[in-house]
Amino acid sequence: MIVVGAGHAGCEAARAAARMGLRTAIVTMNIDLIAQMSCNPAVGGIAKGHLVREVDALGGVMGEVTDAVGIQFRLLNTSRGPAVWSPRAQCDKKQYRIRMRQVLEAEPNVRILQAEVAGLEFAPDRAIAGVVLQDGRILHASTVVVTTGTFLNGLAHVGEKKYSCGRNGESASTLLGDQLRTVGLAWTRLKTGTPPRLDGRTIDWSCFEPQHGDARPTPFSFLTEEIRREQVPCHIAWTTPETLRILRDSISRSPLYSGQIEGIGPRYCPSIEDKVVKFPDKPRHQIFLEPEGIDTHEVYVNGMSTSMPIDVQQAMVASIPGLHAAEMIRPGYAIEYDAIDPRELDHTLEVKRIPGLFLAGQINGTSGYEEAACQGLVAGINAALKVQRREPVTLGRSDGYTGILIDDLISKGADEPYRMFTSRAEFRLHLRIDNADERLTPIGRRAGLVDDGRWALFEKKQRQRETFRGLLEAQRIDRTILSDIKADDRPTLLTWLRRPEAGIDQLASWLERAAGEKPVHGVLTTIETEAKYAGYIAQQDRQIERLRDAERRRIPASFHYAVVPGLSTEVRQKLERVRPETLGQAGRIPGITPAAIAVLDVYLSLARETA
Ligand code: FAD
Repeated sequence: MIVVGAGHAGCEAARAAARMGLRTAIVTMNIDLIAQMSCNPAVGGIAKGHLVREVDALGGVMGEVTDAVGIQFRLLNTSRGPAVWSPRAQCDKKQYRIRMRQVLEAEPNVRILQAEVAGLEFAPDRAIAGVVLQDGRILHASTVVVTTGTFLNGLAHVGEKKYSCGRNGESASTLLGDQLRTVGLAWTRLKTGTPPRLDGRTIDWSCFEPQHGDARPTPFSFLTEEIRREQVPCHIAWTTPETLRILRDSISRSPLYSGQIEGIGPRYCPSIEDKVVKFPDKPRHQIFLEPEGIDTHEVYVNGMSTSMPIDVQQAMVASIPGLHAAEMIRPGYAIEYDAIDPRELDHTLEVKRIPGLFLAGQINGTSGYEEAACQGLVAGINAALKVQRREPVTLGRSDGYTGILIDDLISKGADEPYRMFTSRAEFRLHLRIDNADERLTPIGRRAGLVDDGRWALFEKKQRQRETFRGLLEAQRIDRTILSDIKADDRPTLLTWLRRPEAGIDQLASWLERAAGEKPVHGVLTTIETEAKYAGYIAQQDRQIERLRDAERRRIPASFHYAVVPGLSTEVRQKLERVRPETLGQAGRIPGITPAAIAVLDVYLSLARETA
């Protein structure tokens, strides 16, 4: 198997396939920049942290690497319910790269090659046959996973200047980009951007409020028991009226507003000039000063993504008290690139019209390391399963955020860079970070990706969950367990746990004594959440069953929508464009009405009966 690109998608894809027993070549432009964080030096965040947990639960590697090189850990959203708690870690950017390369090099089945892939090789039946390198060599494989990020025909913009590049200082992938434009797949132009980086020695840190990590860091990986590394603070800053004036006065020099940039940018991660134009009444915008690592002075200015000319960027930075003398190490820039319309893919991330070709990551219209990693993992697993002639692995919307992301992409396409939010999930209480292993580790195990160590830990956690819950159910509360409990109030511990003020931490030492073993990481959170939200969880379980029912009703790949009476031309065209795999997916295509689904359902049932 061949993986093109060693970014966040490529690394997961290659490692997964290698672990599943395939000889896997990963070809990348520069092996010193494996798993480079092109933008912010952080992993996780709201909903993105869920994705990393899911990658880990399936047997992927992003969580373990983040735990190893994180320099500040925070669990976000803790003022809200446990469904939306999500971990985030500031990372040492250089160490992240080094660690990921070590992970790949430790896999006996992985071969890393530094080369540019200039094109795909096809067999006479149009199935994939391998890749052609820029130096003319051909590598043969029956499955290829392409994970080229922002590199396809990448074009960077800084003010009036524009130049071809894949990301800062690296060449664009124009040969492969040009070939992909001609193989018959729908494609589009998207855009993203990054802020300037400053020299920390030239910042007056006393002007900014520090933001510290959590006292007890939450790991990303189920395998990490504890994070012991010393944590560093980030700092909070604000734009000033002068910053906004500078931006407004220079807006005509912005490539975004001069018409120079054609690609569509991420609505939820706008540039600072976009914020000033779209929210003219907002008096100031928040900015975070984030260290890029432990042994560097480079500081990432989170919230100031920009493609303004360098002199404007400098003036903008200097307009913030504490940054008046800050020196810019690298200016911000925007980048436009080709992305393939993800409606060309099925749930395994294989291109429907080119057997053996899988696409994952930013090439599919997403934005973000985590969104890329989870796709890389799914594509890598399925490309490997295809070589092994085994059943594919597909994740549904009730299996995880990864399933939601893929389903959204392949059903709705991506007219703008897609990022994950908890609001995209129908069953948030079911898709928590603490139970990602329960949802996905058995799937990773069946695929051959979850090793014996991870599996043993998973089984132990499931066993403990049952044992501990049994103990809580059997024991009535008393003063030897909780000293401040009223004598006449003696519910079972599990019933008591349902109260809003009750916390399982108060029972942890009793449970440990009663069970005679230390709880594994996360099991107590799961028990508490399931106790507190039992009613809602049961309600969601019923909804999930209804969804699964619709997902079980499959639509044949060659189905002729034209023969179904009562479908409007518009609906028929939309269905033909996406070719949904199930009735459930058909219902999620924008513009497909419940009435159309009902007609289709009847027709499919009749067709099955007469077959
Ligand atoms: P990448 O991590 O980009 O990796 C692509 C890999 O493909 C590289 O290893 C490259 O060498 C290789 N490659 C490309 N072409 C070839 C070829 N022809 N032959 C061999 N190898 C090839 N995300 C956010 O969430 N928020 C942001 O604000 C944000 N801003 C960004 C700003 C910029 C300027 C850039 C460049 C990216 C930004 N991102 C942002 C996106 C984030 O970096 C990506 O989503 C993520 O890295 C995508 O991962 P990937 O694996 O798809 O691709």
